[in-house]
Amino acid sequence: MGTARRKRWKWPILATLILIVAVAAQPAWKLWHAYRSDGTGVPLPKQGVADDVSRLNATPIDSLVRVSEDPEEAVAQLVSLVTLAAQRHLPISIAGARHSMGGHTIARDGVQVDMLPYKQLSLDTATHILTVGSGALWSEAIPYLDGYGRAVAVMQSDNAFSVGGSISVNCHGWQHNKAPIASTVESFRLLKADGTIVRCSRTENAELFSLVLGGYGLFGIILDVDLRTVPNERYTYHRVVVGSDNYVDMYTRLVDTDTNVRMVYGRLNVNADDFLQRAMLNYFTFDSAAPIPGGFEADGLADLKRSIFLASKDDDYGKRLRWNSEQAVTKTRIGTRITRNQVMNESPSIYMNRTADHTDILHEYFIPRRNFSRFIAAMQQHMPEHKQDLLNVTVRNVYRDTDSFLSYAHEENFAFVLFFDQLITPEAEADMLALTRKLIDAALALDGAYYLPYRLHASPEQLRKAYPMADAFFARKRQYDPHELFQNTFYRTYGAPSPLHP
Ligand SMILES: Cc1cc2nc3c(=O)[nH]c(=O)nc-3n(C[C@H](O)[C@H](O)[C@H](O)COP(=O)(O)OP(=O)(O)OC[C@H]3O[C@@H](n4cnc5c(N)ncnc54)[C@H](O)[C@@H]3O)c2cc1C
Repeated sequence: MGTARRKRWKWPILATLILIVAVAAQPAWKLWHAYRSDGTGVPLPKQGVADDVSRLNATPIDSLVRVSEDPEEAVAQLVSLVTLAAQRHLPISIAGARHSMGGHTIARDGVQVDMLPYKQLSLDTATHILTVGSGALWSEAIPYLDGYGRAVAVMQSDNAFSVGGSISVNCHGWQHNKAPIASTVESFRLLKADGTIVRCSRTENAELFSLVLGGYGLFGIILDVDLRTVPNERYTYHRVVVGSDNYVDMYTRLVDTDTNVRMVYGRLNVNADDFLQRAMLNYFTFDSAAPIPGGFEADGLADLKRSIFLASKDDDYGKRLRWNSEQAVTKTRIGTRITRNQVMNESPSIYMNRTADHTDILHEYFIPRRNFSRFIAAMQQHMPEHKQDLLNVTVRNVYRDTDSFLSYAHEENFAFVLFFDQLITPEAEADMLALTRKLIDAALALDGAYYLPYRLHASPEQLRKAYPMADAFFARKRQYDPHELFQNTFYRTYGAPSPLHP
């Protein structure tokens, strides 16, 4: 009797245990598989060929010149390079960390200058102005500033970019209610095509100042930059999950009304069943200006985070798993404290592709706040018409830019940043081009624009609609650089008198 009852109980318990193991085993297996199948690195371009992070721009070049680590020597080296290249009619292109994706750092058969060794840093502790070599990466500038209790005022969401590359695309980040980085540039020294060095600021060579900020290296080589900094405060983390159609209302209620908000970003879900219908609003509020111990904690969860991200590639179950786990993890973080520098010193290594046959591709669209939901509807319509694997969408606000000539922000915008995993094949390229053009048309119809440092998929007409000042910009390029010494694929595609049409 007793044995029979025990047996009756044993089976439901065993079945429940099997169910629990089965439920837990699927995500565990998925993450383990993603971890095990991660690539080990991507191929480098061959000798005599230049490429960028997209690995879709392999182009023959004449030579690669890495500047000296000694700043004075580097400047002398660059001056003689400019003179020599002009004599030999060789175009010059300028490279920072090469994270632009359209050959913006490459001129066919030209000389490519690698600016990364030009990275000296010095802070004026009275004015809080950072003077920085244009080759310095944010991952180098942030720890330096941290030692002085200061922080970068505006930068991208990751730390892998150079200062010269950042100001040449006029980057922006998720610093709340801020215009792009140009607004934080006090001045810089520029080596021009005629071999002379000039200082540019809002009062000295003001037109050149506005052309170089967001000028894609077409007006000369930026040497050192004077950047405004801000205090490295301590923040408290908050996040809410909402329907994406309520995002702007929630943003207005929680973010607009709180003067303590310092950094904000939103994330939209990308799994197919409720595609782009859910949003996570993440924001950081001022907690304390009290002295903060320096140093950065290593991210102990980096491998797990990467596995969760990789598991979402080409797999809807993985995408749901990622969305759900990120919601669960961020929930446990609500109310935690973190410094501005820790938030901003994030490396992209958690998500960057390491396989030879795929690449990471970004798009970005600047949409006026009033048209937020309509742009989401356009993405919901067009994305399923194509075969591209969309892994991430973030949203940040960007204020009006009054400093750069080729500006993308004429009023407050929400910037939608789209991150794709793309196959490196001609078919995938053609499909991505078609998708990009549809999304650009959607952005233009909503009084928006698109961002220029990514693939050169926009038609020349689309570029001119998004940037009505583009022809004036390219005309001034030839005025300041009549022999077109500074060139790259972006210029050859859209701006040169005999352009290569995409
Ligand atoms: C994973 C990823 C995340 C990103 N996130 C953001 C983001 O959050 N916000 C954002 O705004 N952008 C973002 N971007 C875009 C990024 O800001 C640009 O691609 C930026 O140019 C990268 O800096 P870089 O040092 O790699 O520049 P590079 O690609 O090396 O150069 C970009 C341009 O700057 C010019 N240039 C570089 N150095 C100099 C110099 N010393 N003098 C004159 N011209 C120079 C080059 O000729 C080129 O035209 C992201 C890109 C990637 C790949």
